[in-house]
Amino acid sequence: MADQRLNYVNGEWTESRTGETFETTDPASPEEVIATYPQSDAEDAEQAIEAARDASDDWGSTPGPERGRILAKTGSILDERKDELTELLVREEGKTRSEAGGEVQRAIDIFHYYGSKASDIGGTVKSSSARDTNLYTKTEPLGVAGLITPWNYPIAIPAWKIAPALAAGNAVVIKPASLAPGVVHEMADALEEAGLPAGVLNVVTGPGSEVGGTIASHEAVDAISFTGSTAVGNTVYDAATEDGKRVQLEMGGKNPTVVSDSANVEEAADIVANGAFGVTGQACTAASRAIVHEDVYDEFVDAVVDRADAIDHGHGLDDPGMGPHVSESELESTLEYVDIAQEEGATLECGGSALDREGYFVEPAVFSDVDSEMRIAQEEVFGPVLAIIPVSSYDEAIHVANDVDYGLSASVVTDDHTEANRFVEEVDAGVVKINEKTTGLELHVPFGGMKASSSETYREQGDAGLDFYSITKTVYDN
Ligand code: NAP
Repeated sequence: MADQRLNYVNGEWTESRTGETFETTDPASPEEVIATYPQSDAEDAEQAIEAARDASDDWGSTPGPERGRILAKTGSILDERKDELTELLVREEGKTRSEAGGEVQRAIDIFHYYGSKASDIGGTVKSSSARDTNLYTKTEPLGVAGLITPWNYPIAIPAWKIAPALAAGNAVVIKPASLAPGVVHEMADALEEAGLPAGVLNVVTGPGSEVGGTIASHEAVDAISFTGSTAVGNTVYDAATEDGKRVQLEMGGKNPTVVSDSANVEEAADIVANGAFGVTGQACTAASRAIVHEDVYDEFVDAVVDRADAIDHGHGLDDPGMGPHVSESELESTLEYVDIAQEEGATLECGGSALDREGYFVEPAVFSDVDSEMRIAQEEVFGPVLAIIPVSSYDEAIHVANDVDYGLSASVVTDDHTEANRFVEEVDAGVVKINEKTTGLELHVPFGGMKASSSETYREQGDAGLDFYSITKTVYDN
């Protein structure tokens, strides 16, 4: 029997006023319904925003250590439920058990991290040049934060928005992605159990354009943090900035790994294959382009193909090498890119077909002879598809790495420290890695991209996450 889930508004689990619902299904076994959710409308979203507005003053004046205790306790409750959360995440989104377990652990760690940070929020005392003046900064919450999140990290991304927003004293309205909202409901449940007052966190499910659009444009919302595609992010930006909201956007990527002629080819193949095929290629930071020096090109292509061929598929609960795509339309989009790449003249070295079994499974695809102008080298595929581009010099490699609209994560595999330093200086990316895969982030350092991947003004995670949800006053007290 599928779970019947409800919106969480003003501390109550409630149905949508529309009375309508939608279902989530298991991407590895699409006949299986996992849960039903309210198909909410604009008025449901408005009620949630009003509840957050009413709760925001009291939460904003709750002492930081008390807010922190609730967040830390939430982390502990999630930890006790780690296995159930992992299983729910696998069933709705399709990750393997190891991948989902790692993501749930990240959410737990985030709540503990911001729980411990909440006591330090408030400002700093400075020495004034005037004798009788107390000079200090005072940080205050913004008020109501509207959060709009994607399906591909359905618990970690909501956690890395909710926890700093609450730690900084804001009330929250969140619209999780429709494909995998269940773990956000579980997070709301844990926050409630940990003692979060009614109205401080509100969860509303429903269509992105209506529920997300209402949150993005509502005048009672002070800040919007959005993670998702660049196309939707640009719409959200336009709606949110109309009345001057603070906006944080984390969007798509077309992340390169440069493989220098000094690289150990086997290590480079491990780094690129892990970055390209982990989480079925459905990561904003996935390595979708390998830019490889011609002297090691053929050897590298063979080594990556070996790794792609060795990946086994299965239901995420059985912890195979690769789970399914999240949905039929995501699978179809990947298959379409495989066709486009071949039409444009790239060579399909392996994979690229849907598996002849139940579920949205696809074989990881490796393309060689890719030109940087091809769509497969320019557009975000969001599936396990790697484009390998040959280059004849390191200058050309850096030029090709930057020759896309995006700028999220980039890595270089090299044995030459000068090349590595040059990459850090010259590559257009918010996350730069040396001899590491493009995916994988640590929670205590800033995260964000450049160009079409991000709004460059505000970063997420670490202290930057708190800065986004706070405003600083400078006080001269004579
Ligand atoms: P998406 O289609 O852009 O959706 C993201 C969220 O926006 C969902 O909650 C969606 O709701 C909602 N939405 C859709 N239309 C909207 C509108 N007109 N106004 C307001 N909200 C709207 O992205 P996705 O398919 O869920 O996620 C994949 C994308 O996210 C990829 O492009 C990936 O690169 C990006 N991503 C970026 C990062 C990063 O940190 N840079 C991290 C992860 C993912 P529904 O689900 O109801 O449609």
